[in-house]
Amino acid sequence: MDIKSINKNSRFFSTIKKDFPIFLNQPELVYLDSTATALKPKTVVDKLREYYEEYSANVFRGVYKISEKATEEYEDTRKIIGEFINAKKSEEIIFTRGSTESLNLVAYSMGRKIINQGDEIVTSIMEHHSNFVPWQVLAGENGGTFKVVDITDGGHLDIGLENIKYKNSKFKNLEQIITKKTKILTLTYISNVLGTINPIKEIIRLAKSINPKLIVVIDAAQAVPHLKIDVKNLGCDFLVFSSHKMLGPTGVGVLWGKYELLDEMFPFNFGGEMIQEVYIDKTIFKKPPHKFEAGTPHIAGVIALKEAVKYLEKIGIEKIRDYEIFLSGSLARWLEDEFKTKIKILGPDYGGYPEDRAGIISFTFGKYHPHDIAQILDGEQIAVRAGHHCAMPLHNRLGINASVRASFYIYNTIEDVSKLVKGLKKVEIILR
Ligand code: PLP
Repeated sequence: MDIKSINKNSRFFSTIKKDFPIFLNQPELVYLDSTATALKPKTVVDKLREYYEEYSANVFRGVYKISEKATEEYEDTRKIIGEFINAKKSEEIIFTRGSTESLNLVAYSMGRKIINQGDEIVTSIMEHHSNFVPWQVLAGENGGTFKVVDITDGGHLDIGLENIKYKNSKFKNLEQIITKKTKILTLTYISNVLGTINPIKEIIRLAKSINPKLIVVIDAAQAVPHLKIDVKNLGCDFLVFSSHKMLGPTGVGVLWGKYELLDEMFPFNFGGEMIQEVYIDKTIFKKPPHKFEAGTPHIAGVIALKEAVKYLEKIGIEKIRDYEIFLSGSLARWLEDEFKTKIKILGPDYGGYPEDRAGIISFTFGKYHPHDIAQILDGEQIAVRAGHHCAMPLHNRLGINASVRASFYIYNTIEDVSKLVKGLKKVEIILR
């Protein structure tokens, strides 16, 4: 992006804070933890209130007007989410409690059906625990092999894509990793620690050419809020994400799956509204998506999620992405100028291709403990995350126990970046 567009973009985004009521109560807050959860715009909060104040009935059950209204609003979100990620039909969208539940659902309902002795499940060392542990446990229970793709020192998946711009790469190592025995490949689109954006589409294309029967699951929890997602174009079989990381309410997640696969799968939970008929000796389940939505869902949350999508679409995901590159790139350069090698940024080199990185900067700072750093920054009203960010295998691989993570979203400004740099100087004075 040229400097004129950057300035124009920055002016636009500097007005966004006013849409987020939290800044009325916390005017000094520098929120740099959107990777954990995003703040909520007023339109989302208002929609939650609208449901509770105007039509707070259960869905699918009532024949009275407010229940019909709630059902209509709920199903409208399904349609909007389907269009947002270019699903073939809205019946492919299942509402869960979050990415974690969506991944567990696929591991349970699909994984248990297809993984037998000697079959392989392939994942990577950069996964969040929620896309690691369910598959590890499944492999252990069913006698499968759990294969974990390593990363390179440059923070990319070790599939042969370093040194060449990956778009032209042949990913030669992938041909050794995916075999005819591989039944499931499950990968994160964006690492919640390294910020690496994996070349998911290219990986899927090659993996499926090696083994056409392979089921591909994509953890897009960090991707859907920041990149344009088109499930048809990606070529995956399942894709999961969380409402709360994309400005929506907490307690709502999405599982998208190819309808034919969802239709074959056994339900994950049993109970109300997921059955067609129940007899003493048998039960007939509904078709997807309702087969997977047993019990009363987070109705208000699902209804309000569509306001988050509308808000993001109004700004434009590409514009958001450009702005995040600007903020995180600025922080990377600033940290290097001010702290030289004392601060070590994890993940792909910022001097390389900043556009292949998300707006996530995790780092270590000399010998200072990440929790001490985060605590001092908190004293300056700066919220960052410290710890292993639910990615312990990755931190072990990097030879560290913890890191500090600063992550950006639409309400952040270049002043926030400057305050973080100043805060880190204070850290150095206090901990030195
Ligand atoms: N996957 C990734 C990459 C994440 O970053 C997270 C949360 O941080 C999750 C999955 C789990 O999301 P949730 O806690 O919303 O279920």
